[in-house]
Amino acid sequence: MKLNKETLKDKLVFLGTAGARYSAFGFLRQAGGIYFGFENSFTHLDPGPGAFVHSHRKGIEPYWTEVVLLSHRHLDHCADANHILESMTLGGKSKRGTLLCPEDAISQDPVVLEFVRKNVKETLIIKEGAEFNLGSFSVRFPVKNVHGVETYGALFSYKGLTLSYTSDTKFFEKLIEAYKGSDLLIVNTTLFKKNPLIDHLSAEEAKVIIGEVKPKLALLTHFGRGMLSAKPWEVALSIEKLTGVKTIAAYDNMVLDLNTLEVVKQR
Ligand SMILES: [Zn+2]
Repeated sequence: MKLNKETLKDKLVFLGTAGARYSAFGFLRQAGGIYFGFENSFTHLDPGPGAFVHSHRKGIEPYWTEVVLLSHRHLDHCADANHILESMTLGGKSKRGTLLCPEDAISQDPVVLEFVRKNVKETLIIKEGAEFNLGSFSVRFPVKNVHGVETYGALFSYKGLTLSYTSDTKFFEKLIEAYKGSDLLIVNTTLFKKNPLIDHLSAEEAKVIIGEVKPKLALLTHFGRGMLSAKPWEVALSIEKLTGVKTIAAYDNMVLDLNTLEVVKQR
């Protein structure tokens, strides 16, 4: 199913569900990030490698985008950011749109080129507790993650809904409080088994967060190799059984309807 400007409205599109090196760089899954069809404010979250191509394949024209949000500077979250921003501004012909990112994404060794940034209307720096109003939605960054580089998850408020995204992080208690009140909770569940040496959430920790936050719907994504071998849909089912929270493992090009919180059946 190809989307268009109308059918994209109030939808959330998973342009990728790969997480970390083996899965993203081995192309076990796509890594194009998540596209939010917020009315008048289409938003591309974490446009990793292939975001540009996967958008077009889904019918999404990157120049419709108003907001590009980078949760952190790791390349599986931002490799296509320059290309997407260049498309958004038609190569500088129309200065527009908003880039949100942590300071370290654009200070030293920037992942978004200065040349590209000067064509973007505004660049907003994410910090813990920051909140921004962006037309039809607002976004808040409740807590700084533990992930090596500066990383933030986000809570989007849109049409009375709270949609949350943990981004990449090691587990810490504050995460639970940070995402309370979410209607939809997207958890980057990269590891199947917990590994204290890797700053990513495991399936067991995702279960704890989902069970405590109790959203209407939990979505698992950003799968590493171990998670893919464990079959994410089976992991989601076991989390749902244990927590009583409806839990779905996202798949590439999955479309979610924000009005019903149901996955859209596609041909
Ligand atoms: Zn990362």
